[in-house]
Amino acid sequence: MGKRIGVVGSNMVDLVTYIDRMPAAGETLAAPAFAMGHGGKGANQGVAAAKLGGEVVMVSRVGDDLFGGGTIRNFEALGIDARHVRAVPGTQSGVAPIFVDPAGENRILIVKGANERLLPEDVEAAAEELKTCGLILLQLEIPLETIYHTIAWAARQGIEVLLNPAPAVPELDVERILDATFLVPNQTELTILTGMPADTRQQAEAAARTLVARGVRQVIVTLGAEGALLVSAEGPAVHVPSVPVKPHDTSGAGDAFIGAFAQHYVANRDVLAALRWGTRYAADSITRPGTQSAFADAEGFARFCA
Ligand code: ADP
Repeated sequence: MGKRIGVVGSNMVDLVTYIDRMPAAGETLAAPAFAMGHGGKGANQGVAAAKLGGEVVMVSRVGDDLFGGGTIRNFEALGIDARHVRAVPGTQSGVAPIFVDPAGENRILIVKGANERLLPEDVEAAAEELKTCGLILLQLEIPLETIYHTIAWAARQGIEVLLNPAPAVPELDVERILDATFLVPNQTELTILTGMPADTRQQAEAAARTLVARGVRQVIVTLGAEGALLVSAEGPAVHVPSVPVKPHDTSGAGDAFIGAFAQHYVANRDVLAALRWGTRYAADSITRPGTQSAFADAEGFARFCA
């Protein structure tokens, strides 16, 4: 089994405007501050794994615009293999305009841009690099056809796949993801996948069980401050409690969790230990603002664990 981690997924540039209030239609308003950051669920998960020392292969698409080069340089600076992060001529990079009001409430728009052009043939083109991976991470910010194709391709290669069904897409065809080793929804995503409530741990387990009954191998439900729950056909559900912290900004918690889980799992193939590692890493990440910028490197994380 390969020890690298593949990510076939999105990248976005977060465009964060701090506002006093939202302008009304037709109104122009000065806002106090602006910040840019690298984001996108695929990129975030790859970056978390890389910061912890994982060897990451990124397969992603950017636009031929101002942002594309910066995104590629960000991957390279973190030691991520970005040879398959390429610009699609005539497209815009994915962006996320985010408006943060004085109460800290976020309003987020996602413009997927070039992420919608990450196609099955791009996965084929990256086959040699992906074959060196022991786990491939997928999320739902790229076309569903690419998701299904990657899962089927990886199954033929004997490579494990973790699918994070986020953001939730009601039309996801569960029958076509059954070859994934792990399905990792949060509670909202689990509800959209199953039509069942998942607010409590008991409800989440019952909902996850219906997915297992349909053939999903292992469901890992992230439960926010409640930690995570592993549900599979083998035995009772396993609850991994969260690590108590004072949260500052929980955005990107799920991505931190998955990136750290993946990094630990490919190195040790121990699901429970990887879950404990992921919950701990996510807890540390929410004590700081931002997403990628809040993810600790191996040294910082070791200090948190000490
Ligand atoms: P998402 O960010 O996708 O909504 P969750 O909110 O479930 O996902 O968070 C992912 C993981 O981050 C959780 O499984 C948990 O380990 C950790 N986490 C989230 N919120 C907290 C919190 N308030 N305290 C400690 N850990 C947390």
